[in-house]
Amino acid sequence: MNATGAVAAAVVPAAGRGERLGPGAPKALRELGGVPLLVHAVRALTRSRAVGLVVVAAPADGVAEVVGLLDSHGLDGKDVRVVPGGATRQESVRLGLAAIPAEVEIVLVHDAARPLVPVEVVDAVAAAVRAGAEAVVPAVPLADTVKRVEPNPGGPEPVLDTPDRSTLRAVQTPQGFRRETLAEVHAKALAEENAGGADALPAVTDDAGLVERFGGRVVVVPGHEEAFKVTRPLDLVLAEAVLARRRASDAY
Ligand code: C5P
Repeated sequence: MNATGAVAAAVVPAAGRGERLGPGAPKALRELGGVPLLVHAVRALTRSRAVGLVVVAAPADGVAEVVGLLDSHGLDGKDVRVVPGGATRQESVRLGLAAIPAEVEIVLVHDAARPLVPVEVVDAVAAAVRAGAEAVVPAVPLADTVKRVEPNPGGPEPVLDTPDRSTLRAVQTPQGFRRETLAEVHAKALAEENAGGADALPAVTDDAGLVERFGGRVVVVPGHEEAFKVTRPLDLVLAEAVLARRRASDAY
């Protein structure tokens, strides 16, 4: 592996509206401690010595705004590029991936909505890919018991079964991949979509899920409770508290 190939690039899909957070700016541009979520997320990546390039997939009508935003914050002198994102998270990742130079062999995908992932998690994911895994996800055990139901929006939902909680993990990002693997599964998913097959298949909500769907091997490494996804208003309150604690302890 050459020197360039050993350094990972990261794709940050940040083109979602984030409607569950309530009305307002796109989720990635909501502020946490006076700094947009996206800037926190990009910093979390650029702080890792394993990451040499970050490609942000911005809302298609917000590229200039995102470029301006990133320029106005210090980003460790790393190469940060912005491309227009797509209509779905999957399309945004695919467009970001296409902007990564061919010689980069390790690609991380990190949600803009996970602003506080500790650098140790980023490092651990990149290291596991470097050590030979084709797909790596950070994850944490679940506190809640989980039930599978027959969905019945608005009404009582019959329970189908209760998976053994000790075998379940809640998956976070950044997820790490051999570039070749990630490009291949995204190309296959696109071909399926174009052939009209996507409707027949369950929605894949993360990139590792695509690797699984096409028969690849995914491994889990320990995630971190602070790598949670900011989805609902309460998550912003929690994120503010975590940030305040970090600032107070000078760890940030
Ligand atoms: O909606 P959800 O929280 O699952 O989105 C996960 C990530 O995917 C977010 O960072 C969001 O900005 C991104 N996304 C995207 N393009 C879309 C939809 C979501 O980049 N069209």
